[in-house]
Amino acid sequence: MAEIYDLHCHSTASDGALSPTELITRAHEQGVTSMALTDHDTTAGLAEARTAATAKGIRLIPGIELSVSWHDKCFHIVGLGINPDYPPLAQATQDLQTVRVERAEKIAHKLEKKRIPGALEAVKHAAGDGMITRTHFADFLLSQHHVSTQQEAFDRYLGQGKPAYVSTSWAEMNQAIKWITESGGVAVLAHPLRYKLTANWMKRLLTAFKEAGGQGIEVVTSRINADEIKLIAGYAASFGLAGSKGSDFHNPENQWVELGRLAPLPSAIKPVWELLEF
Ligand code: AMP
Ligand code: MN
Ligand code: MN
Ligand code: MN
Repeated sequence: MAEIYDLHCHSTASDGALSPTELITRAHEQGVTSMALTDHDTTAGLAEARTAATAKGIRLIPGIELSVSWHDKCFHIVGLGINPDYPPLAQATQDLQTVRVERAEKIAHKLEKKRIPGALEAVKHAAGDGMITRTHFADFLLSQHHVSTQQEAFDRYLGQGKPAYVSTSWAEMNQAIKWITESGGVAVLAHPLRYKLTANWMKRLLTAFKEAGGQGIEVVTSRINADEIKLIAGYAASFGLAGSKGSDFHNPENQWVELGRLAPLPSAIKPVWELLEF
């Protein structure tokens, strides 16, 4: 049977719509054979995912998607094959929860100034025990009819430079890569084209990422075309990085993104799963 990998997706432990069990069930229905749960700055969904994956016969790779700061810009690093119990990593996720709560308070305050009250209570309720993200704010703005799409919520309120944007000091990139690698995992630069970097800045980023111990780059993600895959594959080759693939699935209502439904990794690229122990 052909292996189908999906090494980037979200559950209700962060901004995904499905619980870890629902996510694994859906992945199984889609034919996924190996998947990584990579919630934003938390590993809280992994235990439930492990139980569900064992029941369905899916190989679960314990993961995380860490928000990091580098040159005052936010980047996402996916950690694959991490040990969530590695004390510095466990401490980091705890600290990041505090960072995210304090940021949510500031975002809500800014929305209040725009005469949009009630956001903090709503996002806390929606996130439950999970990490609060801007996706929760976008959903709140949607539910209150301040916007008509999630994208519009980012364009008008939540995106960088918009009225409810709060700049945040995330973990330092080098530090985050250390937490991942020292816990036994592989650090992968997530969705490299989403940062809108010039070629020069991309090279600086990848140089720094590699020097810090980063080993992989997401070559295949959702909503990406063949030219873009080629471009990233070129970066992977130049910087000696393994290639990952992941849908970044959040919500079954987004018909453009499905678990496991991804283009193949270009054959010249070393697959990141060859670096992972199962
Ligand atoms: P945060 O980590 O709290 O800043 O939230 C970032 C999350 O918001 C991302 O992981 C995406 O799921 C979501 N997001 C960011 N930009 C957009 C956008 N333009 N449209 C929809 N969702 C977005
Ligand atoms: Mn997200
Ligand atoms: Mn991301
Ligand atoms: Mn993601």
